Order: sequence, then C-alpha cells, then structure tokens
Amino acid sequence: MAQKPDRGVTGLPGGKPKYSIFSLARNAASYHQDWQRAWRAPEPKKEYDAVIVGGGGHGLATAYYLASVHGMTNIAVVEKGWLGGGNTGRNTTIIRSNYMWDESAAIYDHALKLWEGLTQDLNFNLMFSQRGVLTIAHSWGELREMSRRVHAIRLNGIDSEVLGPDEIKKLVPIINIDQSIRHPVMGGFLQKRGGTARHDAVAWGYARAADDLGVDIIQNCEVTGLKREGDQIVGVETTKGFIKSKKVGCVVAGHCSVLAGMAGIRLPIASRPLQALVSEPIKPELDTVIMSNAVHMYISQSDKGEMVLGAGVDKYNSYAQRGSFPVPEHMLAAAVELFPILSRLRMLRHWGGIVDTCPDASPIISKTDVKGLFFNCGWGTGGFKATPGSGHVFADLIANDRPNKIAAPYSLDRFQTGLLIDEHGAAGVAH
Ligand SMILES: Cc1cc2nc3c(=O)[nH]c(=O)nc-3n(C[C@H](O)[C@H](O)[C@H](O)COP(=O)(O)OP(=O)(O)OC[C@H]3O[C@@H](n4cnc5c(N)ncnc54)[C@H](O)[C@@H]3O)c2cc1C
Repeated sequence: MAQKPDRGVTGLPGGKPKYSIFSLARNAASYHQDWQRAWRAPEPKKEYDAVIVGGGGHGLATAYYLASVHGMTNIAVVEKGWLGGGNTGRNTTIIRSNYMWDESAAIYDHALKLWEGLTQDLNFNLMFSQRGVLTIAHSWGELREMSRRVHAIRLNGIDSEVLGPDEIKKLVPIINIDQSIRHPVMGGFLQKRGGTARHDAVAWGYARAADDLGVDIIQNCEVTGLKREGDQIVGVETTKGFIKSKKVGCVVAGHCSVLAGMAGIRLPIASRPLQALVSEPIKPELDTVIMSNAVHMYISQSDKGEMVLGAGVDKYNSYAQRGSFPVPEHMLAAAVELFPILSRLRMLRHWGGIVDTCPDASPIISKTDVKGLFFNCGWGTGGFKATPGSGHVFADLIANDRPNKIAAPYSLDRFQTGLLIDEHGAAGVAH
C-alpha cells in the first residue's frame, strides 16, 4: 500500500482559535455570541499568484493545499454563488475507494487516506463516518463480475470482500432478501473503510483553514471571461472586475465546458442532472451505505435520521439544478421492494445537481494548451469522495506546472492517445 500522503499543515497556524470541547464550553458561557467569523469576506485584489474558479469542495481543497503544502498564500477562490452551493452541497456523500482500474484506485485511495485524518487536519468536524459501503448484485452475472472486481481491488491493497445474501441480511436487517422480488439480492461486496461525511462541513472546513492561511475567498463573484495574451493566461474577468493572474485553476464541475469555452477550449464533457432526495427523519435503522448499480439506487441514513437516496443521471444535457420525475420514481419503485420500511415514509426534500461526465467516466486533472490555465473536472456522479485527493494533486499540478504520478493519467491528452480509464463498466453507477 502507498505511503500516507503529506497532508499539509496540522491545526491552524494562522491564528484562528482552535475548535474544541473547551471552546464550545467557553462560548456557551457567552450564549454563543462571540464565535469568530469562519472566513473573511474580502474584496478582490488586483492581482494574485493563482486564482481558483469555483468554491466547491475541490476548489477550496486546491486552495488549501496550495497554501499549506506549496506555500502559495497570495491566492483567491472566486465563487459565483455561495460556498458548496454546487454539487458539493447536493450529493449523497458516499465515500469509497474500491475502484477497479489501477489509476482510479490510486487517486480514490489517496483521497480516502486524506479523509481519514481530515477532521484533525482542518480542525473542523467533518462527521466522517467509516460505516462501510456495500454494493449489491441482483444477478449471477453481476455477482461474478463483482468477484472479479474484488480481486482487482485487493491487488491494489484496498480492502474489499464478497458477502452472500445471509451475511448481508445480518449486516442490514431492514433489507429484503426474498429471492422472488424484481431485483433479488444475490450477494454483494463491501468496503469497510468506505462511508459518508457531512458535505457542507467539507466546504466550510477547507474554507476556514484556507482563509486562515491568507487565501481570499470571494463569494457572489462570477467569472465571465478568461483573458489570454497569445498562449498565456493573464487573468479572469469577473462581476467584481478584472483580476490579474498568470495561473488560473478552473474547478467548476457542471459548468466546466462553459469556462473552457471562454478560453476557446472544447472539453469532452456532457453536463447532466443527477437527483437525490431525503425522507422524513426516523430512528437509526441503517448503519451501512448500500448501492445497487443495476437499479441505480444508493441509500444511507444521515445522522439526523433522514434516509438519503440517490438515483441515476437524467439522459439529457442540462445546466438546470433539477431533473425529471421518472428517474426518482423508477429508483423508488425498486427501493421500496428492497427496503419495505421505506413505503411508510414521506419525502422531505428532493433536489438535483449538474454533473460533468467524461466519455470514460473518469475525471480530467490537466494543463491545457493555454499556459497557466488548468482544469479539474469530469468527476461526474462520483467526485465528492475524491475531494481531498483531487485538491491535493491539483494544487501540486498548479504549483509545479507538471502532473504528479497520481494525476498524470487524468491529463486531457488521453482523449488523443486513447489511454482512457474506462470506469463506466467498473463503477456502474459511479458513486
Ligand atoms: C445528487 C448528487 C449526488 C451525488 N452523490 C455523490 C456521492 O454519493 N459520492 C460522490 O463521491 N459524489 C457524488 N456526487 C458528485 C459530487 O457531488 C461532485 O463530483 C463533487 O461534489 C464536485 O465537486 P466540485 O467542487 O468539483 O464542484 P461543485 O461543488 O459543483 O463546485 C463548483 C462551483 O463552481 C461554481 N461556478 C460555476 N461556474 C462559475 C463561474 N463562472 N464563476 C465562479 N464560480 C463558478 C459553482 O457555483 C460551484 O459552487 C453527487 C452529485 C449529485 C448532484
């Protein structure tokens, strides 16, 4: 197994008070009126050493590692809305690293190792919970393919094990293993180190720690143009004026084609809606994450008690943060068969995000033909789990102007060389 990654700084060196049980008690005494702002709201400077476009988890993580690992503190994160208002705050928070191909295993397990210490590193409770992620099979063919995948995953030193229906029933008492239902449970595979984390906290934790290191986080500021002189990027046009910078990293998920278009670049990306919903809260019933690739359903129970359910992508391209009704309807029809207790629950909230998918269902972490312009996108339906790893390797790419070993396979030139990392088959529904 690979070495533990260099996580950057531990704790907050810039002078922000540390969150702890003691600070909680101290602030309780003043009725919680004296908490310091988590991050500043600065006006943009005229020039930065690097500008990160997109204040989702990946953009904020990039800024944090640029500052903490590479010492680049004169940088800004420019976000058109609010932090985490994109896919970061809209996902179903599943984290795992049991991917089949070596390149995928490398990046997702790099991320998982970072997750394992991230609450401490950022001094922010991310509610990271390694409750296990179980993917279930509904046919013999799917089960056989799963056992092949489990062997490949284990060869990369990543934990993975096959379970039979009875073992699954023991682990998840509310699941229906009756073999006569439409999608019978034939078996599954489990990654015990997988789990969930609180998505907004990830954005807030990175933002607070990056701000502490001097990073300017500028919200409600849309990038409307990418300015280049010849083949060099020289800055970004924004709704708050022009910002000069010779390094620009675009991390805007579903809007990456729009940003790339501003620099005259065409990305191999399709942006589609992906939907999720939560039920009303109930007592703890489910302490594992369950995914079904055949149904395109994934379910977990949040710490608040809501059943969190996600569906597959809508089949049309769109920039609207909502999807069509047949998709969740199809998913729920199968979900109530698999988990009959769901039929008694009411839906509390339902939403959509815009996911950016590449033809090979793997991300792009890359330089471009424009010097100083970098893209990190294409995480599609499954990038939340990669947040720390993605930010860590993207910061390295921006700082050193060359990809490291983990990022190199994700370069844009794979669409010319044909060295694709086809995770469509390997991940089914890519969460
Ligand atoms: C319903 C749903 C369920 C999901 N479930 C999972 C899951 O269980 N596990 C998992 O691993 N992944 C999941 N994902 C995918 C995951 O959410 C994303 O891959 C990940 O959050 C992407 O993070 P990001 O920081 O790149 O993008 P985002 O969080 O979308 O951030 C991009 C930011 O860029 C900003 N932006 C866009 N254009 C501009 C501009 N012109 N100027 C300035 N800012 C701009 C946006 O406002 C946005 O805040 C799911 C996604 C959805 C929608």
